[in-house]
Amino acid sequence: MPPSVLSKTNFLYGLQCHKYLWTLLHEPHSVPPPDAAMQFVFDQGHQVGDLAKQMFPGGLDVPTHDFNTNIRVTRENLGGSRPLFEAGILAGNIFCRLDVLSPAGEGSWDIIEVKSATSVKDVNILDVAFQKFCCESAGLKIRNCKLAYINNKYIRYGEINPQQLFTVEDVSARVAEASGGLAEQVEEVLAVMSQQQCPEVGIGPHCAEPYECPLQPVCWAFLPENSIFELYFAGKKRFELYENGILHMKDLPESYALNGKQQIQVNCVASGEAFVNKDSIRSFLDSLLYPVYYLDFETFSTAIPLFEGTHPYQQIPFQFSLHVALNNDEGAIQFSYLAEGREDPRPKLAAELKQLLGESGSIVAYYAPFEKQVLAELAAALPEYQEWVDGLQGRIVDLLKPFSSFHYYHPSQKGSASLKKVLPALTGISYEGLAINDGKLAGVAFMAATYGNASEEERRKIRQDLEIYCGQDTGGMVEIIKKLFAMAG
Ligand code: SF4
Repeated sequence: MPPSVLSKTNFLYGLQCHKYLWTLLHEPHSVPPPDAAMQFVFDQGHQVGDLAKQMFPGGLDVPTHDFNTNIRVTRENLGGSRPLFEAGILAGNIFCRLDVLSPAGEGSWDIIEVKSATSVKDVNILDVAFQKFCCESAGLKIRNCKLAYINNKYIRYGEINPQQLFTVEDVSARVAEASGGLAEQVEEVLAVMSQQQCPEVGIGPHCAEPYECPLQPVCWAFLPENSIFELYFAGKKRFELYENGILHMKDLPESYALNGKQQIQVNCVASGEAFVNKDSIRSFLDSLLYPVYYLDFETFSTAIPLFEGTHPYQQIPFQFSLHVALNNDEGAIQFSYLAEGREDPRPKLAAELKQLLGESGSIVAYYAPFEKQVLAELAAALPEYQEWVDGLQGRIVDLLKPFSSFHYYHPSQKGSASLKKVLPALTGISYEGLAINDGKLAGVAFMAATYGNASEEERRKIRQDLEIYCGQDTGGMVEIIKKLFAMAG
């Protein structure tokens, strides 16, 4: 595509932030490439797009390998009566490629934009509004605008039924509303594209909305350590403070109403010391019943359900790590399970776990609602485990609680109670340097090793990294509990 032509993706980026679009076009090397988790989202989008085509029988796949061919083949077929997939429309210096352009009679067309999300967002409407503007500028008559997105109530039985997997919503009225002022917005973004200098844009909520901007590490780098953006759950108020020139937590005005947790945080920043509420920690520890089972699941989820009886984006557990401590004085023994093969991993995983989790004793998880939900969904899929799962739910203890309640807080947590921050703060054990260091990445890596085309060597490495990562989550919980016992005296 010629650099002077504005695509719909760049239009949306430009609306979000002039600086981001300019950098993307003029200094693309400064924009980090998408990570594996983001790439997985893109790949899912393509799979969903391909599936949506089945709703339009007889459609023509317009070639996309070459910009000019895409436009030419589209033009050659605009007189016909076949739906067009990936039709390319160039109108002056704006261009869009449409997921589906469907003939609607009397020479008019319907635009159908396919999304892998489960709801319609404002940015999707703007996306379609740009397509309509582009098509109409090129002389096409547009009748209706629709969004086809994932119906999260769909349950897979047998082959995927695209008519049921997708919700197709007519968004013509919303698109018409969003189209007011669109021509001016297009002009504005085109002007940004041709600027010689990078536009000056300050940081703000737009850095994460509607898309997480990949330039954040650069644009936000000027902030000092312990900036007001680390203030626990301060939300939009942080930007108000920032606009008023307050960057550091130590500069918060007296008049600023901190809640109890934020006050602890600010005090810890000032003293450089950890805050410890021994009594609350003690009562948390008293609630533990030995043997204690430290449990962590890893899951993956896909827009198009892979297995019978599952719904879009259902969390499918494929791995667990379990550390078992018979008492507080001795070490814990680790057990683990990592699914092999491409079949539904849940039956074997449930059977393994059932063998290992005894009849009594606390089951400790970090952010327990997740483990509870995974177990509940296991029972829903495998009713023979229902009674067992019912018996487990009351034994589950959330290790997040003492930290989200600020019974313990260390300034190096930077306003976060996540395991990834708490573990290093308490024990010095870090996730830095691990090849897999978060749950999303774990799911994506497992998918690549199991359903992708990873080589045998890559597959082995991924599985090894998964064992290390999941093992650190449960081993880390063991270490945290030891520290809490030491602290509580
Ligand atoms: S981080 Fe924010 S200010 Fe910087 S380019 Fe991205 S959106 Fe713009």
